[in-house]
Amino acid sequence: MSLDIIVFPCLSDNYGFLLRCVQTGKTACVDTPDAAEISKQIEARGWGLDYILNTHHHPDHTGGNKALKRKYGARVIGPKAEESRIPHIDDAVSEGGAFTLGDCPAQIWDTPAHTAGHISYYFEDAAAIFVGDTLFALGCGRLFEGTPAQMWTAMARYNTLPRATQVYCAHEYTLSNARFAETIETDNTALDDYIISAKAKREHNIPTVPTTIGAERDANPFMRADQDSVAKAVNMIGATPSDILGEVRRRKDAF
Ligand code: ZN
Ligand code: FE
Repeated sequence: MSLDIIVFPCLSDNYGFLLRCVQTGKTACVDTPDAAEISKQIEARGWGLDYILNTHHHPDHTGGNKALKRKYGARVIGPKAEESRIPHIDDAVSEGGAFTLGDCPAQIWDTPAHTAGHISYYFEDAAAIFVGDTLFALGCGRLFEGTPAQMWTAMARYNTLPRATQVYCAHEYTLSNARFAETIETDNTALDDYIISAKAKREHNIPTVPTTIGAERDANPFMRADQDSVAKAVNMIGATPSDILGEVRRRKDAF
């Protein structure tokens, strides 16, 4: 198995992703922020679209489902717990379920918190995970429909993946997340290095996505809610990582 992954910006700060199993030629997109841009990327490569993989129900992730399904006959896969909110869904999937793109298998992880039924798609053999709006480079999603404990559960689980795993986040929020992250860990050289490299990329209009699990483990305050330095920064030494993540998230919301 071998998976080609294409990243391209769309809307104001979303990313679109096209996936293609090299052996079978089967294709998928992750979420549908912008049907026109996704079509353009598909056409430029002479590909089709066999599947749409939705991470959660928000309109900037599902808004192109109808047009792309109609144009390419794609099957729409989405979270079981949001089945009624995913336009034109065909297959509802959840934790423990699987999806296979040609020869490339993905695990479905339930990662609720940003929305109640948010899922992630983990292609273990390709060392790639599509996290939607749960994890961002140097940040995490807003807690619209879930709790800090649920978000920490997701972060802790992402933290168990191999450090080289590529993390495909759905938005380019990195520099604004960086400005906040710096206010939490003022003494983290991995964070300093991360920010220098992210700034250089953005100056040349290069996406900071994908990031890696290792880079986030070392620099992202939400992935580091179990670290003493983060606990200390929010005056919560001895508190649970969930409560610390909740406080960091609250500060970020007010930042
Ligand atoms: Zn969202
Ligand atoms: Fe989004």
